[in-house]
Amino acid sequence: MKHFAQPKFLSPIDVALIVQRRGPRRVLREIATAIEEDFLRWQEFDKSPRVANHSENGVIELMPVADTKRYAFKYVNGHPKNTREKLPTVMAFGVLADVETGMPLLLSEMTLTTALRTAAMSALAAQKLARKNSRKMAIIGNGAQSEFQALAFHEMVGIDQFHLFDVDASATEKLVKNLQRALPSCAIKTFKCTRDAVRGVDVITTVTADKTNATIITADMLEPGMHINGVGGDCPGKTELHADVLRASKVFVEYEPQTRVEGDLQQMDAEFAVTEFWQVINGERGGRSADADITLFDSVGFAVEDFSALRYLYAQVCDLKSVEQIELVPQLSDPKNLFSLIAADDTLRGFAATDAPVAAYV
Ligand code: NAD
Repeated sequence: MKHFAQPKFLSPIDVALIVQRRGPRRVLREIATAIEEDFLRWQEFDKSPRVANHSENGVIELMPVADTKRYAFKYVNGHPKNTREKLPTVMAFGVLADVETGMPLLLSEMTLTTALRTAAMSALAAQKLARKNSRKMAIIGNGAQSEFQALAFHEMVGIDQFHLFDVDASATEKLVKNLQRALPSCAIKTFKCTRDAVRGVDVITTVTADKTNATIITADMLEPGMHINGVGGDCPGKTELHADVLRASKVFVEYEPQTRVEGDLQQMDAEFAVTEFWQVINGERGGRSADADITLFDSVGFAVEDFSALRYLYAQVCDLKSVEQIELVPQLSDPKNLFSLIAADDTLRGFAATDAPVAAYV
């Protein structure tokens, strides 16, 4: 008795296989195109800032968004101390659903997908905001997101020289090894501090994880023409840039109501002017106006980017012959008879299959 298709399921290995088959650089470019298409129709989305539950060590967030055809949400956390317990700082999964019926279509891992979409978003912003001849980028914070940022900036912006720094030397060592394999033509230098790493670069990417108001970049490190891709300041009380860095820059954000609370922008008062990036994409607002401008993309990650990534993955799995479907929704011959699921005669007569005590709150 099968009346409808169950949602397709993508594990981290499934998404990794899609990326390996198509090639990571091509996938980054294609996700960036999907994001650009969706940012071009920004007004069609029913948007809201994400819902965040904060705790001492981190945050868990729900990120919903919909257009008239599809609904998506992502569950994502941010726990900077997790890596000490061998857990990722950021873990995520998400759902794409049909708006007309509410039927979930895809349940996907989104830890790897978040790294891909964040890097695609960062590189798309830099394509429009950084100086056209940008070649050198510093990456401050060499953890899980960093390789994806490097790949996307190489592929989409033309960066071929990387300056790396992390307070954890083993994270930098890992990034060097991965980049030597993934981008053998690029020059890679490691540094002992942020100040030395950012000297003379065209783009600074900050992608650190620390639940504190950090000032990784201060205004005296800025040089005319730099573009800053601030990725790790994405939560109240978790910033990376000194307020003077924002004052010295033209600031671009994804969705202003969310970034005012979560981004490095949280340090500024309500009058501080920013531009939503979709307006640059559709030509309503300008990006940089001179080579000497300092531009800043204050990224926090917005639900539309996850929507774009999920619809991209869904299109990929619809092309694949064998994709697991997950029994998430009950199949009933009479959808009004949900009770039939538990209506075995013994159950109805009160004969319990187990007398184990109710489990404690764990
Ligand atoms: P991770 O824990 O794997 O890596 C973070 C790295 O930052 C670690 O290696 C750590 O040693 C380093 N670090 C911490 N403080 C530092 C400092 N002062 N100077 C230099 N390095 C420092 O985390 P990740 O998954 O790579 O995520 C990095 C950040 O990006 C997190 O803050 C996360 O919340 C954020 N993030 C943002 C988006 C977005 O859309 N904006 C998406 C994903 C992740």
